[in-house]
Amino acid sequence: MHFEPVIGLEVHAQLKTKTKIFCNCSTTFGAPPNTHTCPVCLGLPGVLPVLNKKVVEFTMRMALATHCNIQPESRFARKNYFYPDLPKGYQISQYELPIAVDGRVDIDLNGDSKRIRLNRIHMEEDAGKLNHAPDRPVSMVDLNRTGVPLIEIVTEPDLRSPEQAGAYLRQLRAIVRYLQICDGNLEEGSFRCDANVSVRPQGTEPLGTRTELKNLNSFRHVEKALHYEIERQIDVIADGGSIVQETRLWDAEKNRTFSMRGKEEAHDYRYFPDPDLLPLVIDKAWIEQIRASLPELPDAKKARFMERYGLPAADARRLTSERELADYFEACLTTFDNPKQVSNWITGPLLGLLNAENRSIEQSPISAAHLGQLLQLVADNVISSKIAKTVFDEIARTGKPPKQIVADKGLVQITDSAAIETTVQAVLDQNPGEVEAYKGGKTKLLGFFVGQVMQATRGKANPKLVNEILKKKLETS
Ligand SMILES: [Zn+2]
Repeated sequence: MHFEPVIGLEVHAQLKTKTKIFCNCSTTFGAPPNTHTCPVCLGLPGVLPVLNKKVVEFTMRMALATHCNIQPESRFARKNYFYPDLPKGYQISQYELPIAVDGRVDIDLNGDSKRIRLNRIHMEEDAGKLNHAPDRPVSMVDLNRTGVPLIEIVTEPDLRSPEQAGAYLRQLRAIVRYLQICDGNLEEGSFRCDANVSVRPQGTEPLGTRTELKNLNSFRHVEKALHYEIERQIDVIADGGSIVQETRLWDAEKNRTFSMRGKEEAHDYRYFPDPDLLPLVIDKAWIEQIRASLPELPDAKKARFMERYGLPAADARRLTSERELADYFEACLTTFDNPKQVSNWITGPLLGLLNAENRSIEQSPISAAHLGQLLQLVADNVISSKIAKTVFDEIARTGKPPKQIVADKGLVQITDSAAIETTVQAVLDQNPGEVEAYKGGKTKLLGFFVGQVMQATRGKANPKLVNEILKKKLETS
């Protein structure tokens, strides 16, 4: 029997507001423990939360970017549970009436598009953090994170493979980063993912019993954990067992999931509307104002890059994966207007360099203007494309402008036919045996002669001229 996985994802994205969701405490990461706290986020008795308008705006940006319906009225609710990092004994979240419902995200699967429906997006506050002492049997609580704003983005169970889940997460991360509402950092926990996964016999409708996977803190872990869990569930069913609804943790070192606890149901949390907070009312004018302020999003940018610049889909997808990378590409074009060549240099040597040094495009040692100037030098026949790579490496090392490097190092291409002809003649004179062989039919030796000439000119001879002059001499003399 063939089994089909059914996956739904819940993503928590931490919003980049300056202050927390219900108080004025700073959200800055990395402060000494318990310094960014006040009576509100400590949950002391008698205090009143006040909703941060920026949190609502950021959430509306995300809701509109993912084609959700923003509800004219939504509510905050208390999710009751005990944990030492939650001093109030409840988390303020949204439950029955979330701010946004019924959205969608289109993902790209090697050229095919698949639509993933969003069930809802809601706002909530984060809890604190427990730090477990490595050397003593104690845990210390840091409440700087309590009240940091989160949005939770919940899909319908539309994903059918770990690879689709990975593609969805990458797309969602690109969107929050384009919107500049979240830095999308999985490792630091500002973009977290839980996965609901079940399997069912291929071609059947009813959903199998699902498990929830937690602790997935990189794209690679998400895919590996899902692969493992799908196999585990199929094995259990094949052995005549049944799946238990539970929460499982991914262990990245052992490459397996293990049971953490039985899965809670919503009724375990005794949700009820938070009496301290008024219903949130959003009028149409506000929605339209936010809509008008949205930037061009990844899908639209990719389509524009293909249409306006004539780029293949793969190039456009790569260049628009980050807003800053797309901006860099377009900045290059203002100096050198050949989109495909610029794309080749960015997706090839430049990203190779940045990946090797683990840098982002904003930290590129080569500015967009310098890359454009470099390519213009090649187009103007000032340097050969071979020398261009040397100059590229030199810009990365020194930050000097390409023209200066070419002048300082004497790298200007030799386009003087007479000079090249002299070198060609010298090479032919030094290799009479090869010349004989060439004339006897071994025309593959042309490459050898080109190599010799290029070596003699330290790569500076114009390759096209070298080829022409060599052929002329070999075939006429
Ligand atoms: Zn506070």
